[in-house]
Amino acid sequence: MAFKNTTIEDIQSGYAELRKSFQDKKTLPLEFRRAQLLQLARLFQENTVGLSDALHADLGRHKLEASLPEMGPIISGAVRAAESLEEWNKPEKPAVEEWRSSWDATIYARPKGLILIIGPWNYPYVTTMLPLIGAIAAGCTAIVKPSEFNPACAQLLADLFPKYLDASAYRIVNGAVSETTALLDLKWDHIFFTGSGRIGRVVAAAAAKNVTPVTLELGGKSPVFIDADNTDVELAAKRILWGKQQNAGQICVAPDYILVPRAQQDAVVAAFKKAYQTFWPHPKGALDPLSEMGTILNPHHHARLTELLGRTQGTIAHGGNSEGTKRIEPTVVTDVKLDDALMEDELFGPIIPIVPVDDRQEAIQVIQGRSVPLVIYVFTDSEETKNKFFENTNSGTLVLNDTVAQLGVHEIPFGGQGESGYGSYSGKYSFEIFVNRRSYINVPPAFEPYLGYRYPPYTEEAFQALSAPANIKIPDH
Ligand code: NAD
Repeated sequence: MAFKNTTIEDIQSGYAELRKSFQDKKTLPLEFRRAQLLQLARLFQENTVGLSDALHADLGRHKLEASLPEMGPIISGAVRAAESLEEWNKPEKPAVEEWRSSWDATIYARPKGLILIIGPWNYPYVTTMLPLIGAIAAGCTAIVKPSEFNPACAQLLADLFPKYLDASAYRIVNGAVSETTALLDLKWDHIFFTGSGRIGRVVAAAAAKNVTPVTLELGGKSPVFIDADNTDVELAAKRILWGKQQNAGQICVAPDYILVPRAQQDAVVAAFKKAYQTFWPHPKGALDPLSEMGTILNPHHHARLTELLGRTQGTIAHGGNSEGTKRIEPTVVTDVKLDDALMEDELFGPIIPIVPVDDRQEAIQVIQGRSVPLVIYVFTDSEETKNKFFENTNSGTLVLNDTVAQLGVHEIPFGGQGESGYGSYSGKYSFEIFVNRRSYINVPPAFEPYLGYRYPPYTEEAFQALSAPANIKIPDH
């Protein structure tokens, strides 16, 4: 079906229906949540071919680049969430001080309510469905707004959703700025946004009007340090090039720029050339018709990248070619300075600037001097280098010796810090975003004899007795 924007009337009536479903507690029973999570897994497993074809239509992506970063995490994530529901939703009975032990102190996981999930175009499924899995597991209702720049993917989701999921609880809304603005005018119980920092600020400002909690998953420049004396440079280059060519470099966790000790820059370039040759042994390399590398989203982004290559003061050491208005080859640029055009913003394309530094210490200073990145990648076998980066830098994630995006690792949270966003998700962490940790205590009437001191008229004796917690001994060290 051709891409169709959801009408404003349908947005409003869908919102009202989902609000009512939540109030009616439709999504509360664990059996309902389990059934919907398994249906979501089925939606992706039974339609993998169509969903992959849609990714190919929108982004020229090979099916391997659909399966590994999108289908796998979604299907396994939904099934694991379904199987974890009992455990995640179990009320917690914290250990309390002995004298309060009869108060039945409990922490419940209660669903927040109606959730809005807004996604970007570069990974249209995983960035919307992993949060949705958390929302379903938490017992919420949810509207998902995919990017209008993925017309094939977004429309297919809109077509498949009502066939698999309960439409009174989970919906797709399609559209661009005006539809998203209409969504943001409504009151939500949580907004989960993945996209650029610029629009993230628009979303956070809209949410603030209703004091709505927000998760912002943004991008930025994720640096790489190659500790060339303490690592296999060829393996590092191969892994970096793999990370950078996925989806033609249009990935929030792409290794953005490379910091290398000056003396090793040539060796690193040679290693990139070798890796390039093994990835694309065709006559025209990555631009060859046989190449499986994805395309740049549109001519606008292509022009942005070629303009950057025109403006850089660095040296194009490998690549630099483009074809038409959607293809550009992985391009290594050496001797890039910190004030270069390539260092201004997130590159979001297959350009690899190498910034030579004196040593590890200077690499750390470069990272410290910029906004906190989503990921820092360090290639090293040295414990000391690992520790220096761990202790002296900050980022959402620190990845040693690879450029893998960890979104499919359900056991560890994924998210940014500072300019790269706030809040993190994946597995149980996604569930936690969408629940209120509601505390409960019951102070039994039989406890009354122990409460007498708190009532007026206040006395010195009562003051002394009730000051006991404030007078505890603080350990000397
Ligand atoms: P974007 O911010 O332009 O768009 C994201 C969403 O916001 C889209 O659904 C779009 O329709 C909507 N939108 C656009 N303008 C709007 C407006 N004025 N008001 C309300 N909504 C509006 O981002 P993008 O170009 O789709 O995605 C690329 C960015 O996303 C990159 O910066 C990338 O790093 C980031 N990203 C981050 C992650 C992560 O997990 N941290 C994952 C993927 C992408």
